[in-house]
Formats: sequence, structure tokens, C-alpha cells
Amino acid sequence: MTEALIQTGNKIFILLLFMFLVSCSPKGSQPDDLNSTIAIEHVTIIDAKHGLQEDMTVIFEADEIRHVSPSLSAPAASKTIDGTGKFLIPGLWDMHVHLTYDDRFTGVMPATFLSYGITSVRDTGGLLSKIIPVVEEMRKPGAIAPRVYFSGPLLDGEHVVYDGNSRPEIGVRNEDVARARQNVKALKARGADFIKIYELVSPAVFATLVEEANSLNMPIASHVPLSMTASTAGPHVGSMEHLRNVELDCANNHAELHRARVQALLDYVPGSGHELRSSLHNSQRIPAVEAFNEERCAAVLSALKSTTQVPTLRLNAMALIPPFERNDWQAALQDMVPEVQSEWLTPPSWFEPDMAKREVRFQKYSIEMVGRMHKAGVPIGAGTDTPIGMAIPGYSLHNELAFLVRAGLTPLEALKSATIRPAEFLNLENQMGTIEVGKVADLVLLSANPLEDIGNTRKIELVISKGNLIN
Ligand SMILES: [Zn+2]
Repeated sequence: MTEALIQTGNKIFILLLFMFLVSCSPKGSQPDDLNSTIAIEHVTIIDAKHGLQEDMTVIFEADEIRHVSPSLSAPAASKTIDGTGKFLIPGLWDMHVHLTYDDRFTGVMPATFLSYGITSVRDTGGLLSKIIPVVEEMRKPGAIAPRVYFSGPLLDGEHVVYDGNSRPEIGVRNEDVARARQNVKALKARGADFIKIYELVSPAVFATLVEEANSLNMPIASHVPLSMTASTAGPHVGSMEHLRNVELDCANNHAELHRARVQALLDYVPGSGHELRSSLHNSQRIPAVEAFNEERCAAVLSALKSTTQVPTLRLNAMALIPPFERNDWQAALQDMVPEVQSEWLTPPSWFEPDMAKREVRFQKYSIEMVGRMHKAGVPIGAGTDTPIGMAIPGYSLHNELAFLVRAGLTPLEALKSATIRPAEFLNLENQMGTIEVGKVADLVLLSANPLEDIGNTRKIELVISKGNLIN
């Protein structure tokens, strides 16, 4: 009886709430409807297409930018925000995240991303059974969450690196071309926005995955398969992750190293895919870096001119500038669950406090390589791999931007890597990435100029996500 009353009470409450929401929703959506337009006035706009424009007014309505002009000639809006002395940039992307890699992060990630101005993320690997419910939640109207685009699981080969044994289960097998074709079709049917190819696929499976994804209009992110080289696999995919295996292709003895690698793959007695991959990286990575050949590398990079590189420098070069040595690290950790806070308060076991004794050859190589790629005209994208490798969601993207500037990008080019480049990867450049009429209303208001110091992207006053003001 009491239970029935409570249920009836709940229903009435839900109905009242519904009526309230309906009465509050904007009436009509005429462009000149003053009831729903918001203007940011007298602000300095910065985007990677137009550079810096002073004393501008940007008007948006719901999730669309409706007007951009000098403040002098701007029309009225129903609500105004004074942008005097402030800087407005497009919402930022993290091009490489894993929302379902570690359950302790999944719940806090969406809001944390937004608080750092990350209004879009590309999820580069998770089982469909886990990622789809998370994506559905994030895409619900009114959700406090960035836009999300997902690949589904890592498409691995006969062996799987992330098989749920020594590593979380985020990969699936593609033991032959028939399975590869079937997997891509299934991903498309389940709504995946792109595919992610992993390291243990055979060249035949790689070719099939590429062909199938192309025929279904799905962009492709990829690690360079161990059975292939960066310059042969790279041109077939939209983005390459972590600079992985580029060192091998740029080495003096690249052919010899590759032969040894292919032989090791052939000789492998079935066991852990993770072990197989790690043993190859561990035995070949540093020798390859030491055998770097300028001329050879120029040829490799010229093959990658239309493949966006997502170097995740903050991961590759973490030992050089560890995030836990930053002054704001402890404060940023407060957004994580208590267990993660206590885990990440102490440096990891591999960390060598003495800089003179630290192994940083691959770290330095990674930073130099991004500079080299950038000079060669290879597009660079900003991604972090959060939460892997002590990457606080959102926070770590700002570390990545600083690394990209250290590698040789200008601050404006670093902004491009986190705005226009990810939009291009997903063929969304007509909808987002710049501050222009018709683009989505994802914006970040800063209190200092990011072109003077890329660290100023951290000085966030207001985030606008899908037209909603997020404080
Ligand atoms: Zn990853």
C-alpha cells in the first residue's frame, strides 16, 4: 500500500517535471528569436583557420553559431557575455581516449573532459558491449558530456594484445580475411564511427580491413602492424597512433630489422599477444632509434603526407616531463575517484628520479620526430591515450599541447591539432573546428592569450558545449 503510494507520488513528480521542462523549452527556433540567442561580445577570437581577430562578437543559438562579426556591427542578442580582455577558441578535442579501459574513470570522464574545455573525444578502442551504453548515455539530450565518436574494439590479428589476460580486454581477433570483413560490417551496423586497426594483423587482413572500411565510408585509425612498415601501411589510413614502428622504418638497417620482426611473428608459439608485441618493441626500438637515417626517414615521411599522426607525446615522452611533477597535479587529481588519487600521488615504480640516470632516448626521439614530421608537412593530431599512463582526462590534453609546441609547432598549429585535424579525420570539418557561422556551438573562453603561451589554454573561464554554458 505504502509502496503503491510512493510509486504514484513518483509518477506525479515525473509528470510535473516533464510539464515544467516543456514549458521551459525554447519556443520556435527562428534565427531572429531574441529569446534564445547568446552573444559573447568584444572578445578576441582565435582559430587555426583565421588566426587572431580582435573585438569580435559571436552569437550562437542552441547548438549553432549564428553570427560572427566585429562587435561594432553585431546585432542584438537576448543574453550577452562580456568578452573584453578574453580569448575565444573552438572547443578542443582529445583524439585518443579510452572511456571504458578502466571502470574507475568511465563515470567521471565526460564531465571532467568538459571542465578542461574538451568538447569532443575520439574513443580509440573498447568492446562494443561496454562502449555503446557509455556513448548512448553521453549522447542523450542535455547530457553533460563531450561529443563522442567511437571505433569499437582494437581489430587485432590471430593473436590479440589486449585479450583480457595480461591487459584489459579491448581487442578482438581477425584471424583471416573472412573474419576481418565480417567484423567491419558488424561495427558499421552497430554504429561505430571509424575503425581502429591494431598491431598483430597480417598484411592480408590489414588490406581487407582497409578495403571494407573504405567501402562503408568509415575512417581508419591504426597502429602500424608489426608485419608491415609505417611507409607501406600509413598511406592507407587516416591516422596513425603513438608514432609506433616509425623508428624501425627510419633506421639505416630498416630492411634487416623488419625481416627479423617478420621471422619472429612466423616463429611465434601461440601464447600472449601482449608478450609477443612487447618482446619485439623491447628488442628493436632502441637499436632502431640509434640507427636513425636522415635520408631514409625523409622518404618515409613523404609517404605519410596525408596521414594524421597522433603522437601522444605526453605518453611517449612522459619520463622527460612527468605530469606528476607539475604544481597543479594534486589539485587535478581531486576529480578522480579516491583509489586513483592515492595510486597516482606517488610516482610509478619505473620512474627514475635522477634525470642523469633516466632512459630518455626514445622520449627525445619522439619529440624530435614530431618536429621532423611537422616540417615535412605531415598533419599532427592531439591525443593523450587517457587514462593510460597516468593521464587525467582533459588535464592531459593541455600537457599534450605543450609537448607539441616543444616539438616545434606554433601555439596556433598546436590548436589546429586539437580542433581542425580531428574534425578532418572524421570528415566533420564543415561542422566544427573553427569559429564560423553554421558551425556547432562548442567554444572555450580563456582569460589569457594561448598564442603567447600555449599553457594559457588551461586558463578557462567558461566552456560552451553544444550551445550550453558549462561553468
Ligand atoms: Zn590507445
